[in-house]
Amino acid sequence: MTPVQELQDSLGRRIQYLRVSVADACNLRCVYCMPSSQMTFTKFSKLMSPVEIGTIVEAAAAVGTRTVRITGGEPLTRHDISDIASRIASADGIEDVPISTNGIFLKEKADELASAGVTRANVSIDSLKPGVFSEVTHGGDIMRVREGIEAAVEAGIWPVKINTVLMNGVNDGELEELARYALERGYSIRFIEMMPLKSNVQFQPKLFYPAARAKAEIERHFTLTPRQAGKGSGPAVNYSVDGYEGQVGFITPLSGNFCSRCNRVRITSDGRLRMCLFGDDMMDLVGILRSGGGRDDVIAKLREAIQFKPERHYLEVGKTSSETLFAMSQIGG
Ligand code: SAM
Ligand code: SF4
Repeated sequence: MTPVQELQDSLGRRIQYLRVSVADACNLRCVYCMPSSQMTFTKFSKLMSPVEIGTIVEAAAAVGTRTVRITGGEPLTRHDISDIASRIASADGIEDVPISTNGIFLKEKADELASAGVTRANVSIDSLKPGVFSEVTHGGDIMRVREGIEAAVEAGIWPVKINTVLMNGVNDGELEELARYALERGYSIRFIEMMPLKSNVQFQPKLFYPAARAKAEIERHFTLTPRQAGKGSGPAVNYSVDGYEGQVGFITPLSGNFCSRCNRVRITSDGRLRMCLFGDDMMDLVGILRSGGGRDDVIAKLREAIQFKPERHYLEVGKTSSETLFAMSQIGG
């Protein structure tokens, strides 16, 4: 399908990647993402329905979106997740439907997700030690996650990437083990610097562990070769690893700003377009559909909104530039 005119922001960045948060709720409470209490979640009736998500994705696809990542919160908390995935995957022009999940429900859902058209998966694992994993996630069971990943691979969801948020004094002692776990199974792994949010800003500076240190530690055990950042490649700086199929990546929102390569926008679970993870500008898309509008009205709004995509964010360690962003789960990390 040749789009009429692809979505491009005022700086010439082509927007081909959409992250759709399908739920702001989660069955876990990772310390850096959301607090163990005080969270209020969007009512199910206010969340975008599968049909609404399908129409918004069709609109985005018509102006150049090719990849739609399903994320949250935890997408697998939704009972209608397979319906959502199949509507996204069947939108004309969509080529790739990855999912981000904590993996707890993956074992049960893997087959239906694969049949619905989910292509690949990113799964969060911050520690392989059951006690540390449980503490970081507030009760998560690492073995369920590992079995979930195996079920996903078995169902044909491939490749798999492991996402590990770096935490000083928590998981910095097991970076080699985490990399080995991933690489020996053919998965890739990305080490992510912890971003400051309203929910974690008090302890984020203490837990912050720079990706450069993680890279030095990984290089003590593996030989890394930088990979060229592909066109529209995500925020990770990726490396091939001698002897392994999977890659190691480092995501450095704080120490290395990647905004100039940003090709993505996000949709919150209540249907608002968010141009930048840390910018507060949002445009209501689902409201257009709920007041009788259709796909073409959403396209018009996308074209208007994209001109407000900010050039970059201005985060520093210990500060959050967002007034509204309390937890990552609210917008889809
Ligand atoms: N629940 C799914 C999961 O955990 O993978 C998907 C949503 S989660 C918000 C997406 C990613 O954001 C995860 O890899 C998580 O580790 C990351 N994340 C959440 N809060 C973060 C923070 N403050 N800094 C860096 N990454 C964060
Ligand atoms: Fe839930 Fe993912 Fe946030 Fe952890 S990072 S609390 S699994 S949304």
